[in-house]
Amino acid sequence: AKLDTLDIAVLVVLLLATIAYFTKGTYWAVQKDPYASSLANGSAGKAGKSRNILEKMDETGKNCVVFYGSQTGTAEDYASRLAKEGHSRFGLKTMTADLEDFDYENLDQFPEDKVAMFVLATYGEGEPTDNAVEFYEFMGGDDISFSEKGGSDESPLSTLQYVAFGLGNNTYEHYNSMVRNVSKYLDRLGAKRIGEAGEGDDGAGTMEEDFLSWKEPMWAALASAMSLEEREAIYEPVFEITEKPDMDVSDDTVYLGEPNKNHLEGHSKGPYNAHNPYIAPIAESKEIFTDKTRNCLHLEIDVAGSNLSYTTGDHIAVWPTNAGKEVDRFIDILGLTDRRHMVIAVKGLDATAKVPFPSPTTYDAVIRYQMEICAPMSRQFVSQLAQFAPNDAIKAEMTKIGEDKDIFSEQVAEKYYNLAQFLEYMSNGEKWEKIPFSIFIEALHKIQPRYYSISSSSLVQKDKISITAIVESIEKPGAPHVVKGVTTNYLLALKQKQHGDPHPDPHGLDYAITGPRNKYDGIHVPVHVRHSNFKLPSDPSKPIIMVGPGTGVAPFRGFVQERAQQAENGENVGKTILFFGCRRKSEDFLYEDEWKQYGETMGDKFELVTAFSRDGPEKVYVQHRLKERAEEINKLLEQKAYFYVCGDAANMAREVNEILAQIISDQRGVTKQKGEEIVKAMRASNQYQEDVW
Ligand code: FAD
Repeated sequence: AKLDTLDIAVLVVLLLATIAYFTKGTYWAVQKDPYASSLANGSAGKAGKSRNILEKMDETGKNCVVFYGSQTGTAEDYASRLAKEGHSRFGLKTMTADLEDFDYENLDQFPEDKVAMFVLATYGEGEPTDNAVEFYEFMGGDDISFSEKGGSDESPLSTLQYVAFGLGNNTYEHYNSMVRNVSKYLDRLGAKRIGEAGEGDDGAGTMEEDFLSWKEPMWAALASAMSLEEREAIYEPVFEITEKPDMDVSDDTVYLGEPNKNHLEGHSKGPYNAHNPYIAPIAESKEIFTDKTRNCLHLEIDVAGSNLSYTTGDHIAVWPTNAGKEVDRFIDILGLTDRRHMVIAVKGLDATAKVPFPSPTTYDAVIRYQMEICAPMSRQFVSQLAQFAPNDAIKAEMTKIGEDKDIFSEQVAEKYYNLAQFLEYMSNGEKWEKIPFSIFIEALHKIQPRYYSISSSSLVQKDKISITAIVESIEKPGAPHVVKGVTTNYLLALKQKQHGDPHPDPHGLDYAITGPRNKYDGIHVPVHVRHSNFKLPSDPSKPIIMVGPGTGVAPFRGFVQERAQQAENGENVGKTILFFGCRRKSEDFLYEDEWKQYGETMGDKFELVTAFSRDGPEKVYVQHRLKERAEEINKLLEQKAYFYVCGDAANMAREVNEILAQIISDQRGVTKQKGEEIVKAMRASNQYQEDVW
């Protein structure tokens, strides 16, 4: 067929876009291409706010900007801690900046007497966090070869001095790749790094300590590079809190915990996304363990009419509410009980300090809906709170714990204290009335949505999203209390309410389940959908092998549901093997009856291989079953079967990876190293996919 003019025009545009795509971010060094620059700058002027960081720093008199690429809030939290410390200890004029709020084409004009800090989390398989995607692409993206070509001819960023810290997890292959790649790019472009680029490891559980031990030498190097003098740190609040005794808490303008300002103002319309959840009805809820000591929930979230859509393998995010019992504890130990529903106005004391929730509000609403109050305590926060202790003896004790990693570990971390539990313990119940409330807004994480691997198929039920979640309630040796998960106990309370309990109260936690202003009444929960790359092969005749012990089976219920439907529709569906493991057949065998049904529909195309760790004399796990099936697995892989792993990242997923390499090496008669390389190549080509947490 001949190409007509329109086709040619489309091709030319595509070609130009491709060229621009591959050159953006490198144009300082490689070429001064105005097209690349304007494309890279495509998002400028969003919402009328200035995206020019240099202008912003000038206007607000700042000489230090701390950029963060954050997914779950930890990187953002570290960024604000650096900003605060830089100011209180060294008199730097600091600000934090969300990477997605600015453009980067003028970094080559960054003034020599200022400093940029980058706190960068790596997400999943070496990906940037959602808010860092544009920045990362602009800097060079995954084109590592760019930074490895050696020094650039020019050094466009020679005036930029920077500091970098990464948050990663060594159980993932691309450990801390964001901070590593970004520092490589910056170095190659001539920027001057101050101190080491730090790396925190969530996999080893040492993130906080890695951060603390990185930052001291960094501050020393920065102080010397910028001739800063250290002063005695004095706490200066970032926010001003004004109590409004005359204001009525039921006034329409008072924020009582709605997910955001739109919801407060009654516009709960879409589009629904990570900033704006949909208040979804829970169509159905049940428990699917017969084991009475543990709870596993199956929920059906109704998204009909919301315009939310998903495809099999995506994640749903649930926006939690803190347990009433923990909210009460927090309010009580601060001596705020009488004033918990007092209207308060919260204002940033500095032009760059953003109040992270609508104001006016109440103490109760902020604590219940906005702050991660149940999370583990950080050592730095213990030090910081010492100055506000009820008396000098407690202050001295706090200072000691804050200074010593081992004492902290023994007295705080190993007891699994959250903030309020720790304060209660330290003061023996005496109130901590001197702590300025601003410090919690600054130091505690903003409460985060929790993700769940969707356990249904969008082909079968496009308007109903299934969740399979185990309720977190763990007795830890050393902890004086049972450690409870925030979100899963909230979901359990919703299930209990749906099943007729008027005051559901799982484990005495007492959630406010009808939500702010009763907006969640009738069993609703705020959610949004996050699209993932964990996907079935587009050709259903390809074989698939799935490894999903425990709740790791969640996405595979969706996968098998989909393949069974395809088989029913008369499509040619390839071999579908699921390795599932749990403790006992009679206790926690998830979806036992459903697998039988899928088997009836799919015949010998579906096979479930089970491993019950506590049913026999020896512990058997899915890993053992994989080894037993080595020959068949290898054959299927040679037929280009897709291999999927879901569930525990720390141990299971890593072991499965090793076992697969071993299977390939044994079956194909190649070295272990070659086996590992083959698995690596499978990962790179998406033939091996992981959904792990
Ligand atoms: P949290 O309150 O977040 O607590 C989690 C854990 O932190 C606790 O169990 C405890 O070990 C620890 N902890 C809590 N408080 C303290 C403290 N004070 N001190 C020390 N440690 C403490 N889960 C599923 O069940 N099914 C799924 O399908 C699923 N899919 C997921 C998919 C993705 C992509 C991700 C990232 C996670 C997934 N998860 C899934 C996990 C899920 O997101 C939640 O992490 C889990 O449900 C716990 O949430 P929670 O709010 O109940 O617990």
